Amino acid sequence: MRHIVVIGAGQAGSSCVVKLRNGGFDGKITLIGAESHPPYQRPPLSKAYLMGDMTLERLFLRPESFYGENDIDLRLGVTVEAIDAAGQKITTSDGVIGYDELVFTTGSIPHKLPAAIGGALDGVHVVRGLADVDAMEPRFVKDARVLIVGGGYIGLEAASVAAKLGLEVTLVEMAPRILQRVASPETSDFFRTLHQGHGVDLREGVGLERLTGEGAVNGAALTDGTTLDVDFVIVGVGIAPATALAEAAGVALDNGIAVDGHGRTNVPHVWAAGDCASFPYRGGRIRLESVPNAIEQAEVVAENLMGAEKDYTAKPWFWSDQYDVKLQIAGLNTGYDRIVTRGAAPGPVSFWYYKGETLLAVDAANDPRGYMVGKRLIEGGKSPAPEVVADPETDLKALLKA
Ligand code: FAD
Repeated sequence: MRHIVVIGAGQAGSSCVVKLRNGGFDGKITLIGAESHPPYQRPPLSKAYLMGDMTLERLFLRPESFYGENDIDLRLGVTVEAIDAAGQKITTSDGVIGYDELVFTTGSIPHKLPAAIGGALDGVHVVRGLADVDAMEPRFVKDARVLIVGGGYIGLEAASVAAKLGLEVTLVEMAPRILQRVASPETSDFFRTLHQGHGVDLREGVGLERLTGEGAVNGAALTDGTTLDVDFVIVGVGIAPATALAEAAGVALDNGIAVDGHGRTNVPHVWAAGDCASFPYRGGRIRLESVPNAIEQAEVVAENLMGAEKDYTAKPWFWSDQYDVKLQIAGLNTGYDRIVTRGAAPGPVSFWYYKGETLLAVDAANDPRGYMVGKRLIEGGKSPAPEVVADPETDLKALLKA
């Protein structure tokens, strides 16, 4: 019987095995996860779950019983330690397992602060897994002083929850503006205003020099010479794809585990999907860190494991929830040279990214219509003139018919 082994019981790993069974694969499936929980969704970890608005069970993608019922051997709390690609077997913390096909869905690892600047002090947290959030959640009490390091989406979402729960929030971003790596100055301005309106002390162009404290963190020195008293710290300074295991097995890397359009690596019978994998995209290669990508890419790998020979065509989209704002992002803005704004806060507002006359991406805040139309235009390769999009009189939906 053919045996498919999937390493990493997260969003992509779970999507892959479910697609295999739903697609009629009747061989053996083993899904191995280092964490002790069945596969769960991570987005609520910095949103509703951290806020206390969502139960643990609702985080799970499927009840744990689903896997047994579908003849999927789910091994939780088991870490894969080495791969013997020539012998087609893996060594886990629980023994050796042979495979016919192996799929990496190992996700990402959050960057941590070096111990030399206080990164190992008690009270310094990252937000990647349930264990991380369960460890920091008791510190979310009214008037506690939290320092958030990093003004990307994870840091901003954590700031939003903390401010809503009445904590005293300071956020430092070493770049000149929050969201600089991923969004336009207009989008940054929108979120700066939003956070400042909720009392967040937002400091841009200011980095962390070091954290201070004996055993537990109690202060921070910033690069502008100021110091802060803090009760705890959340570090949201990016992630790296989890590639060490693959690399040691001879799998080629290129900003993640390098796969072809079908999800195959350079090593026979070894595949990858999700946060850990980079794939061909519009003449280049990208790696996406998002739920839609993890699901869709893993499903394509599953289909190809069943013989489909199908290319993965990414249709990037993403979202973020902060206070009462739902941000929806369609497309990828890489290379944009012009921004068109529609609407204004507190109403629906959207920022449209153009490169020349080509529409690349849309950031839509409380603007589901702008998001939906933008996404369909981008996926259809249509680019309405920027002036037309900017005109408040334009009926967006009509642009789809043009
Ligand atoms: P993961 O879900 O991280 O799963 C990888 C799993 O592999 C982990 O459980 C890990 O323990 C396991 N693993 C790794 N190595 C081994 C090993 N050697 N042996 C066994 N197991 C191993 N995306 C969005 O689209 N929208 C959002 O709003 C959003 N918000 C987010 C908020 C937070 C706090 C976080 C952390 C992420 C968010 N994301 C969001 C990103 C999204 O969750 C990820 O892109 C997605 O989870 C990637 O899925 P994955 O399966 O590739 O990796």
